[in-house]
Amino acid sequence: MPVIVVGGGPVGMVAAAALARHGIRVVLVESEPVPQTDWRASTFHPATLELLDGLGVVEQMHAEGLTVPVYQFRDRTEGLVAEFDFGLLAAETPYPYRLQLNQQHLVRMLHERLAATPGVELRFGTSVTAIAAEAGGAWVQLQGQAGSGQLRAGFVIGADGATSSVRRLLDIGFDGFTYPEQFLIASTSVDMREVLPGLADVNYIADPVQWLFLLRTREAWRAVWPVPADRPDSEATDPATLQAQLQGIAQYPPGYPITDHQIYRVHQRIASTFRLGRAVLVGDAAHINSPIGGVGLNSGIHDALDVTARLARILREGAPVDPELDEFADVRRRVALEYVQADTQRNTERLREADEERRQRNRAQLREIAADPERARAWVRRVSLLESVQRFGVGRRPERANTATSTGSHR
Ligand SMILES: Cc1cc2nc3c(=O)[nH]c(=O)nc-3n(C[C@H](O)[C@H](O)[C@H](O)COP(=O)(O)OP(=O)(O)OC[C@H]3O[C@@H](n4cnc5c(N)ncnc54)[C@H](O)[C@@H]3O)c2cc1C
Repeated sequence: MPVIVVGGGPVGMVAAAALARHGIRVVLVESEPVPQTDWRASTFHPATLELLDGLGVVEQMHAEGLTVPVYQFRDRTEGLVAEFDFGLLAAETPYPYRLQLNQQHLVRMLHERLAATPGVELRFGTSVTAIAAEAGGAWVQLQGQAGSGQLRAGFVIGADGATSSVRRLLDIGFDGFTYPEQFLIASTSVDMREVLPGLADVNYIADPVQWLFLLRTREAWRAVWPVPADRPDSEATDPATLQAQLQGIAQYPPGYPITDHQIYRVHQRIASTFRLGRAVLVGDAAHINSPIGGVGLNSGIHDALDVTARLARILREGAPVDPELDEFADVRRRVALEYVQADTQRNTERLREADEERRQRNRAQLREIAADPERARAWVRRVSLLESVQRFGVGRRPERANTATSTGSHR
């Protein structure tokens, strides 16, 4: 029986590609008729590039992306606060930088490869509407362009994003909170380094009212800022408002061409378990967080590569199910809480801090860390998720000896 991957976003595509590489039959089910092309996450960290190496896409990602070793913390009033250099990790990773590449490019690259891979079935325009994932096997009910039907599977990987049907159908909780403000993303073809000299390619800019996140990709510069909860979307995304916001960052008399904009709600939420019987949750289906730090998608990819390594051991080497999938659920949930949620929450609070004393303390702390090479190295090791991978591994063989084949209703 195949493994069913629900969701053809970046995390589902990585899961499917990893399973195919292990020689495991896979059916990928995606509700949209074609892979999605909207601009969302755009950062790939060193550990993720190392892990993706095995899927044969890293060379192409470099050819299409932008390598960014240095990023800055700034303050809208004070200017540059501190600069951190991923080059400090040169002895620990072959990729000591962030690779800026919009996520839809990774989806396209993997989709092209999967479409040509024997043993992989791609079902676009098809949604999962029911699921059972008992100890002996799993099935999903599908509804789509080609009609409806039931598909049996060895295992189901729920990679169906923040509003995951797999999570909802399995009645798994998703506790956390929603930030009061919305986040607005506007993209422009103007080179922000020309209008703001000294800027890095990735910049986090603190301000009690109008904090900012400015980053560069090959297609455009992207600016992210908060929109008060009570402001209607139509007002926040009005072309004149977007223009005024960008002019407020730096004057550009010809007017900023705005090539794309999106407004969305941001949450910190985590699934109560990442495993129920023969179903697992990965990526946004398992945890969602603030984009400040660019680690959400990265950790989702680590989830996918962790669980697929375990499924390969189960399906190809006869490893027992429960120790592997329990370890997946424990380790990946712990990383999501201790690294992804903790750091993105701290990053977001640092940008939007309103108390002047705490703002000063934040700046002093960042300057101190950046000035000390050992502390700075530890900092970039942590923010790039390299520390979590060094500490927990990805798909590491479980140490616990457990040969039971229970239902594994891990909650
Ligand atoms: C507007 C926006 C901007 C963002 N910007 C950033 C950023 O700057 N930095 C950052 O780190 N992160 C950002 N994110 C988050 C980032 O995009 C996600 O972490 C990432 O997309 C997660 O990938 P995924 O594959 O887990 O989920 P998704 O990309 O959401 O993919 C899930 C897929 O599952 C499909 N699906 C859903 N339900 C079903 C079903 N029942 N059956 C079959 N298929 C289904 C969906 O159509 C979708 O294609 C942003 C998110 C949004 C919405």
